[in-house]
Amino acid sequence: MPSIAFYRLGLLGYPLGHSRSPELHRGFLDACGLQGEYRLYEIPPDQPQRLQALLEALRRGEIHGLNVTIPHKQRVLPLLDALTPAAAAIRAVNTLWAENGTLWGDNTDAPGFLHDLRAQFGAWADQPRRALVLGAGGAARAVVYALHAAGWDVAVAARRGAQAQTLCRDLDAACTPVPWEARAALTPPPDLIVNATPLGMTPHDAASPWPEGAPFPAGARVYDLVYNPPETRLIAQARGAGLEAANGWGMLVAQAALAFRRWTGCEPQGHLPRG
Ligand code: NAP
Repeated sequence: MPSIAFYRLGLLGYPLGHSRSPELHRGFLDACGLQGEYRLYEIPPDQPQRLQALLEALRRGEIHGLNVTIPHKQRVLPLLDALTPAAAAIRAVNTLWAENGTLWGDNTDAPGFLHDLRAQFGAWADQPRRALVLGAGGAARAVVYALHAAGWDVAVAARRGAQAQTLCRDLDAACTPVPWEARAALTPPPDLIVNATPLGMTPHDAASPWPEGAPFPAGARVYDLVYNPPETRLIAQARGAGLEAANGWGMLVAQAALAFRRWTGCEPQGHLPRG
């Protein structure tokens, strides 16, 4: 890893007003004793020239690393030269860097999710079981990829059934699309329920992907990718039913730390997964 006097890092997306990434990466730079900046590159989807110019700056080494978020996670794929196996399978990237003029893309959401699942639920998470993933967008693809790689059976429920079917087909995973309306009545019941929809995110705090009043499977764990508010409606429902539940803050930190390690070689959080 070449030594860099001042790291130029940043986030590509649109809009970026509420991103927590700058504070996380500022903390990582400090923890690793590195000089640098983490800027927001707010580029709307209808400005492909600006997107291209930013990626060329990355290729030339004027920028050392970029995170990618909505709406560019898939949009940038044709502009990259190489993908890690996870990014290629998920077909979405959240971490970019250049090596000898080659533009690389990785997806650290998948290992970030698995890392935090273990951090939240301990040894329970090491035993592959049956999971239900709610939603079939970019984050759901990373979660299904991660769970499948860890040996889990996964059912995916999305309000547009075709989106769940495409996800399972693309990922070639042990993955079963199930109707959105049937999500609370699956047999056999899931051991883990993962919310990968934005339902419950501020300012729509009262919304939940789990039907009000529907019982949860006994002993199930709930993981909500939403972390704002910290206790989402889904988490409150689950805890009210006596279940263990966690929000997605730890996943956000883990995916950021994995990207940071990729760019700088420094691990700001302990015990991150390899690969
Ligand atoms: P996305 O690509 O837009 O996918 C969202 C999914 O949720 C789609 O399947 C979408 O269906 C579905 N959905 C949206 N509104 C819905 C509603 N009212 N009822 C039922 N389904 C609905 O978004 P994403 O990137 O996957 O992100 C999903 C959530 O995860 C967001 O809240 C995001 O902030 C969070 N996230 C957290 C982390 C973390 O590190 N904790 C990382 C990534 C994402 P349609 O396509 O039909 O709208």
